Amino acid sequence: MTQYAFFKGKIVPIDEAKVSIMTHALNYGTACFEGIRAYWNADENQLYAFRMPEHYQRLIQSMKILMMDARYSARQLCDITCELLQKENFHTDTYIRPLAYKADEIIGVKLHGLSDDLGIFATPFGRYVENEEGAKVGFSSWQRVSDNTIPPRGKITGSYINSAFIKTEAILNGFDEALVLNDRGHVCEGSAENVFLVRGRQLITPPVNEDILEGITRATIMELARTELNLEVVERPIGRTEFYVADEAFFVGTGVQVAAIASVDHRPVGNGGLGPIVKSIRDLYFDIVRGRVPRYRSWCTPIYVGEKAPAPAV
Ligand code: PMP
Repeated sequence: MTQYAFFKGKIVPIDEAKVSIMTHALNYGTACFEGIRAYWNADENQLYAFRMPEHYQRLIQSMKILMMDARYSARQLCDITCELLQKENFHTDTYIRPLAYKADEIIGVKLHGLSDDLGIFATPFGRYVENEEGAKVGFSSWQRVSDNTIPPRGKITGSYINSAFIKTEAILNGFDEALVLNDRGHVCEGSAENVFLVRGRQLITPPVNEDILEGITRATIMELARTELNLEVVERPIGRTEFYVADEAFFVGTGVQVAAIASVDHRPVGNGGLGPIVKSIRDLYFDIVRGRVPRYRSWCTPIYVGEKAPAPAV
């Protein structure tokens, strides 16, 4: 249960972290956010936040896109988050939600000349999609927002209406998740996760100019695939039917972690189960995020160290 939030510059009981019905961000979607996971390691009695500085750097980039003041550095935000989590004292996997929002209580659609605020809360959190070992996926009838409509490079709350249309359609049509095309007809990502496919020893994913979020899990998997699994990683536009003939395919993201795709548009991907490459990536990822792989320990910020867990240098 969430007990506290960082709100208007300090940690307060969660019941005090409230905004007005007139808040600009609530009316117009003028906010941006992050999703960060912290993993409980029972052997070490420790909670590890995964790639927290990178998430806060991306939040600051999203804020820049929305013309917000960068009032905190990534380093300061890491320190605030450690303090908040220490107070919550969660001993379980946790999801951290920072939110920067246009806080003025006025009518008027714009970005400029408004004041903003930044809040953070955290909540215990497990799985994000059903069937992580083999999700049934369908291509969405919705189109992804684009860099010239609502830039997907920023994690902007208003654009998540697009994700919500995509996700709900998929679930109501009997799928676990969706894939979505951009306005050029190329594959972008899932409703809230990046996507890879495997052909031979190649791992293929859309490049950052294909209307995707520049995912932190995506960057993590690309690095691990190259350095640990000796795979060739290729960033290039992907057509829909490449998923029909792929050997393996999978989603990655903070929420979804690494989830195998079993079928796309009712066609089995590979043998329709958890393939060997996705399995090795999943196993490695789950060990790393829990702080079990010493050479990647720098990606994991320990929360419970002495009085205050120091954030890694940014
Ligand atoms: N794409 C979208 C649209 C998302 O919302 C997310 C989740 N943040 C991702 C991709 C995955 O990004 P990350 O790995 O940084 O969580």
